[in-house]
Amino acid sequence: MNPVLIIKKKRDGKKLSADEIDFMVKGAADGSVPDYQLSAWLMAVFFNGLDEEEISHYLQSMMRSGEVIDLSDIDGMKVDKHSTGGIGDKLSLVIAPAVASAGVVVPMVAGRGLGHTGGTTDKLESIPGFKTEISLKEFKKILKKCSVGIMAQTSKFAPADKKLYSLRDTTATVDSTELIAVSIMCKKLAEGIDALVLDVKTGSGAFMKDHEDAKKLANLMVGIGNRQNKMTRALITDMNQPLGRMLGNSLEVMEAVDVLKGNGPNDVKQICREISSHMLQLAGVEKSLDECRKKYDDEISSGRALEKFVEMVELQGGDAKVIHDTKRLPSSKFKFEFISVESGHVTQIDCEKVGWALVSLGAGRKAQTDRIDFGVGMEWNVRLGDKIEKGDAIAIIHYDDKNRLSLALELLNDSVRVGEKIKSPNLIYEVVE
Ligand code: URA
Repeated sequence: MNPVLIIKKKRDGKKLSADEIDFMVKGAADGSVPDYQLSAWLMAVFFNGLDEEEISHYLQSMMRSGEVIDLSDIDGMKVDKHSTGGIGDKLSLVIAPAVASAGVVVPMVAGRGLGHTGGTTDKLESIPGFKTEISLKEFKKILKKCSVGIMAQTSKFAPADKKLYSLRDTTATVDSTELIAVSIMCKKLAEGIDALVLDVKTGSGAFMKDHEDAKKLANLMVGIGNRQNKMTRALITDMNQPLGRMLGNSLEVMEAVDVLKGNGPNDVKQICREISSHMLQLAGVEKSLDECRKKYDDEISSGRALEKFVEMVELQGGDAKVIHDTKRLPSSKFKFEFISVESGHVTQIDCEKVGWALVSLGAGRKAQTDRIDFGVGMEWNVRLGDKIEKGDAIAIIHYDDKNRLSLALELLNDSVRVGEKIKSPNLIYEVVE
């Protein structure tokens, strides 16, 4: 097959056959189609989409590009969660150990930063020694010992997505419903899980800016999951403002540890509780969501969820001392106050700009080969609807490099609007089953 003709066909809005899709996916997995052709193909898909049949072929090829994990020799229900990506989204760091400490197996294959959003594996790697690039054999060993493990994609596990994910990250082809749905579901279906809770974000910091697109994505993924006999549920949640106060890799680990200790900001606490409770319900731990909420509260207040996190960190090679004393996590050299130039109520936060500002500081990648600066980030001080005065610090920026700070400030400068009082948005809009 000729990749140029496949790209041209999709570029011209025509339907691709199963073989043509499989050819591109195999080419991504084994390197036989070069990056520039894969990127052009992704852009053609971005503009012209995939129909239902194409999505189904694409999903099958992506799943088959690597191994499917067999967890049948591990007792218990296996349940995972996955977010479509946001700013300050450290939820997996809390949810995975909390749900595991309640008796559920959580085999989580997580992503790196994508576009303007952060990635769970990057955050975990800010813990000195923590390894996310582990083999499937090691992953299973960890799951058998402590019921929870969080690994990055390897070249054996959904390798085509590993390649396409990093190309999409650097070619502005992330925010496509079909590409996101298949990217997430091919990994989740290869994990050997029984059930899945999806956190589909909508708002200025999400890939899906409006509710209707988020709902379409949620329905698409829930449909894919249920057709594959995995109980799948999606929560459509707000991403019009950063989640929590801490943004950036080690700062987010710090905040996640706070939440595991029962402290931390209310939005992160609430949403972790809800997603965890849905996971516990799908796992059959308790019947009603209310009972599951109580179970989650118990795991947090007893300290068991935190203990589980520490156990996982140690098994994955991380230095648990930094969890007991999070001040030992990597930190930046300098701090800068980003202040408000007017008084009023916060009416709008361009959360995507906040995300790109974080990437500019070095908390994410602009190119595939970029190294993450784990200690940089922001303490975000304002929420939608808050009253602020001229001169108040909207954010405290943690930075290492003056040029990078300037780039971040350029992005931040018109990211926050101030005006008349507004109501703060809901955290969770709806549940899609
Ligand atoms: N998470 C993924 O794994 N893939 C996407 O495309 C977006 C979020």
